[in-house]
Amino acid sequence: MSSLPNNFFFSVEMDDSVISQSSSDSASSASSTSISDNFLTINENNLNENIIEKEIEKCNQMLRTTKECSKERMRLVRRLVELRFKLVMVIEMNALENKDLISTTKVIFGHHLSPIWKLTWLENTFCDVCTKPIWKHMHQLYQCTDCEYKCHIFCVEQIKRVCTAVTASENSMIFTISPYSGLLSQDYKCAECQSYIRIRNLQISPEDTLSLEARLCDYDGKFYCPLHHWNKTAIIPARVICNWQFEEKGVSQASFQLLNYKYKSKMYDLEKHNPKLFMYLESLSQIKNIKNNLVKMKKYLVLCKLWNSQLKNMSSRNHQLLYDGNLYSMKDMVDIKSGVFLEDLKKTIKICEKHIRHECEICKNQGYICEICQKDIILFPFDEDADECNKCKNVYHNQCWKTRDFCPKCKRIETRKIKEYL
Ligand SMILES: [Zn+2]
Ligand SMILES: [Zn+2]
Ligand SMILES: [Zn+2]
Ligand SMILES: [Zn+2]
Ligand SMILES: [Zn+2]
Ligand SMILES: [Zn+2]
Repeated sequence: MSSLPNNFFFSVEMDDSVISQSSSDSASSASSTSISDNFLTINENNLNENIIEKEIEKCNQMLRTTKECSKERMRLVRRLVELRFKLVMVIEMNALENKDLISTTKVIFGHHLSPIWKLTWLENTFCDVCTKPIWKHMHQLYQCTDCEYKCHIFCVEQIKRVCTAVTASENSMIFTISPYSGLLSQDYKCAECQSYIRIRNLQISPEDTLSLEARLCDYDGKFYCPLHHWNKTAIIPARVICNWQFEEKGVSQASFQLLNYKYKSKMYDLEKHNPKLFMYLESLSQIKNIKNNLVKMKKYLVLCKLWNSQLKNMSSRNHQLLYDGNLYSMKDMVDIKSGVFLEDLKKTIKICEKHIRHECEICKNQGYICEICQKDIILFPFDEDADECNKCKNVYHNQCWKTRDFCPKCKRIETRKIKEYL
């Protein structure tokens, strides 16, 4: 065992009180060896299977000499557990032929896999290759820095799935609800690994005991084996876009990772894919309206020198919403459904409006006076009662605009042109 990282093993508690107490205890018990010796004899940096196995044996013997429920016994039990973990780790490390590779990033099927030594990953982590748990205090893992694919270090050579970051960049997302074409169309094989699969409890022949349970992925409409479909669920983009349906459905592990990877990507042109949603959903029609007004406000803001200083005080969320286009991410759609998106958008437009209408003299001076009724009220293109001439972009009250005979500004321009011509 060469060059193990320093934090490879857990630190063993060895506070002085334990050692002295244990030593005095053991001094009174003639049969046992000094416990302090046993806590200190192992050189943590130079372990091999034999040393640990001997240590485990020693620990077991000592355990037998301690009283039930005594502090000493508890310490020894803990030590025993630690030693067993260490044994598993050393066996894992030895199983890898080329130990130097462990310290470097591996590139396999587009994944950039880095070894993780720190014992801080989340609970309930499972290996994407063998599906077995990656125990927090027992295993090290490789994790892809691009897509978070995880596996045991000893499973790394068996990786078959292409990195989600690569799949996502090469294929466009599925925008339509996938029809299930049935197991026959897949030749009764898992869409990922080609293992034979069958519908649960439906044995085709008595010999057919080896085929695995077929599990449907709602995202791509294909069937997978349990190794590649863990019964995880996700919101299906196509169901949201087509039916505004957010109920989570079962997806394959590859689809699950892809949907997670793309969760915050702004890639869904909701209005293009399903314009009806904007007609039937009050929240979406409000959002569309506010976004249109934001576009009108931005024409003021980009030209205003004072706005830049205000931008610094704006939260990143408001800032992002101000410059968002018409594309939505899956997260946006979830936020629209919960109402959070609309609330945030209202806050954003309020900040912009306050600046243009009340706080900034530069912007305020660029408002309009309706030339049709000539009332002394400043109008802005984003006002509810305002309308714009499509040709010259001059702003009028919409009531005045509806009953007009002509656009005063367009007429002025026209007259000037004629004079110049003459
Ligand atoms: Zn594994
Ligand atoms: Zn990856
Ligand atoms: Zn499979
Ligand atoms: Zn301004
Ligand atoms: Zn007017
Ligand atoms: Zn005009």
